[in-house]
Amino acid sequence: MDNQYSVAVIGAGPAGLFGARELANNGVRVALFNRDVKAGGLAEYGIYLEKHTMKEGLRRQFRQALDLANIDYYGNISIGKNGDFTLEEIRAFGFDAVLVSAGAQGTKSLGLPGEELEGVYHAKDVVYSYNSLPPFSQRHFRFGKRAAIIGAGNVMVDIARYLITYQNVQEVTAVVRRGPAEVNFTKEEMKHLISYLDINEFEKEMARARPVTDAIGQDPEAGRQKILEALAKADPKIRDAKFRFDFLSSPAAMFGENGQLTRMEVEENILTEKDGKTSAKGTGKRHSLDVDTVIFAIGDQVDANFGLPAQWGEFEKSGEPKFPIEGLSYETTTRGVFVGGWSRKASEGLVGYARRDGTNAARAVLQYLQAQAPGGASAEAVAERMKGLRKPVIYKDDLKRLEAAEAEEAKKRGLEFFKFASNEEMLQAMGLLETA
Ligand SMILES: Cc1cc2nc3c(=O)[nH]c(=O)nc-3n(C[C@H](O)[C@H](O)[C@H](O)COP(=O)(O)OP(=O)(O)OC[C@H]3O[C@@H](n4cnc5c(N)ncnc54)[C@H](O)[C@@H]3O)c2cc1C
Repeated sequence: MDNQYSVAVIGAGPAGLFGARELANNGVRVALFNRDVKAGGLAEYGIYLEKHTMKEGLRRQFRQALDLANIDYYGNISIGKNGDFTLEEIRAFGFDAVLVSAGAQGTKSLGLPGEELEGVYHAKDVVYSYNSLPPFSQRHFRFGKRAAIIGAGNVMVDIARYLITYQNVQEVTAVVRRGPAEVNFTKEEMKHLISYLDINEFEKEMARARPVTDAIGQDPEAGRQKILEALAKADPKIRDAKFRFDFLSSPAAMFGENGQLTRMEVEENILTEKDGKTSAKGTGKRHSLDVDTVIFAIGDQVDANFGLPAQWGEFEKSGEPKFPIEGLSYETTTRGVFVGGWSRKASEGLVGYARRDGTNAARAVLQYLQAQAPGGASAEAVAERMKGLRKPVIYKDDLKRLEAAEAEEAKKRGLEFFKFASNEEMLQAMGLLETA
């Protein structure tokens, strides 16, 4: 039942959708603004392109949330300093609270020489592109024959798998700051890649790392096991390609010719240990990797242009929250503005985590609302403002038409799933763009 409170939720990824659902189920009227035409965020545009069953299961849950009568969806609407509305404008609509669940859209830059060269990319741009998110899907990437990926998590594994399987890259090197024991991927992901691991070279690399790991008393077998346990269920090789590790190395500089990357220098590290935490420390010694592509898979940070104060890649949270949930602060330093999911903690956890975090953020909002009378942004007034924009706004019915058109296209092409990869095609499929 409607309790006359109205809340703006910004971002319709898992955190925003489940947060909106929690609010709506408690009688709040929700205006859900989303930068992308489609809902789903990284569940739609990050999770590996072949995980159809997982993605379809999530889409089903997202549809159920969007079907709730007191959630209004406004897709293709970006909020922020450079967006269709600023955060201040959204607040001025008169919402009783704002929940920011816009993910972590900023990229971390290490500020290394050569980062501007063609062939140097950030992981999110690449995964957005192979998952058909405009405008990334229309951007040209230069994937050559030899690539290095900086990182040792599941995103590194997804990208290595994509480069080998879809881009015919012949050799992919994972550049890992610390040692084999600190890799962060799961065997469920690694099983898709491990058949490309050159075992002889892996053993040589393990031997190279050994004096450093021995020096801090790390068991070399633990690292080996962690990596090789994926072998038991390895996917078969479908290309003649090689995957390798470069442990105890950090990128130092990239070099190119005519603006195009040709090589990267990495600095070799030793390990130090303090209070059970292992850290890497550069030795000054470098070696070189001949690569034409480098992809940084080192996690993301929030968008500094969103309109909320940010520090160390995160939106600032109140250190003394009035409505903590499970001991965590969902409150920003701006009254009535809350954060959830990857907007609260960048690059943290899987969809299940974002779902719980978005739901908990909504619970914090609900507690905040209880302490005040409904002020009321009217849904009609918000809808009226949307009409005033000189661009197509995507509503729930449009999404249904888009889904039907994509299902039809998949059937025609004999595919398990099909996605339009440009806004123009999506708008046309929804009947929102005149055909030329
Ligand atoms: C490469 C990769 C692979 C992954 N694979 C898996 C996997 O296999 N399994 C799994 O469980 N998890 C996986 N994850 C993690 C999972 O995708 C995230 O945990 C989850 O999507 C985070 O949810 P979120 O809602 O906080 O943010 P996001 O999913 O990023 O959603 C943010 C939403 O906000 C919108 N938005 C952004 N900026 C604005 C703005 N300025 N104004 C309005 N709207 C905005 C976006 O359009 C988007 O819809 C993967 C992540 C990545 C990066």
